[in-house]
Amino acid sequence: MMGQKRVLIVEDEKDIRDLLDYNLKKQGYATEVAATGTEALNKSKGGKYDLILLDLMLPGMDGIELCRALKGNPETSGIPVIMLTARAEEIDKVLGLELGADDYVTKPFSPRELLARIKAVLRRTGEREKAAPGKQLKTGDIVIDTEKYIVKKGGATLDLSAIEFKLLLYMAERPGKVMGRDFLLDAVWGRDAYVEPRTVDVHIRRLREKIEDDPSEPKLILTKRGVGYFFGSDGN
Ligand code: CA
Repeated sequence: MMGQKRVLIVEDEKDIRDLLDYNLKKQGYATEVAATGTEALNKSKGGKYDLILLDLMLPGMDGIELCRALKGNPETSGIPVIMLTARAEEIDKVLGLELGADDYVTKPFSPRELLARIKAVLRRTGEREKAAPGKQLKTGDIVIDTEKYIVKKGGATLDLSAIEFKLLLYMAERPGKVMGRDFLLDAVWGRDAYVEPRTVDVHIRRLREKIEDDPSEPKLILTKRGVGYFFGSDGN
């Protein structure tokens, strides 16, 4: 059982709950189920889950309240949450409220799609945890502090937006790996963020203006023509 990921499924509709439970178990996840928000909240105390699948529409305490409660409690705030929503309008609502959910899946979904999302979220969380304990990533005169969420260049703190920080960290942790716009969108913005691939270019340009000695001759964030971007490893 070692290494088995624990997933809490929160869904009031029994058919969907059973379907999720069946498919996740089949893929080797250790699952538990809850039919109400209150039940889920009680079960999640202690933070023993690796992921929570959370239906938005629940009787009583709904998915929004529950997500807020989970993310507001240090004990459970680190557990990634994937919201299940019935309509695109609900996703807008979830995004607008900035609940801190890690991903969103719209019903009806195929088990295959959902499983892919679960895998992606768990992988992202794993990487975040690896980087978590006050790690400092240094490259040239750039220092990325993942605990304080600051970036310094030559000792001076740079003024980066949250997404610029995330983008820089994601690339700097994978030096030399060429990443296309769509790939970066998924990895940094998240799959359901409504942004155009061009947004990536805009942020890369801003990031270069902040971190490069000469933004027109970038040495850190490099372009692979026709493919995407990569972070220049030291000495390259
Ligand atoms: Ca429901």
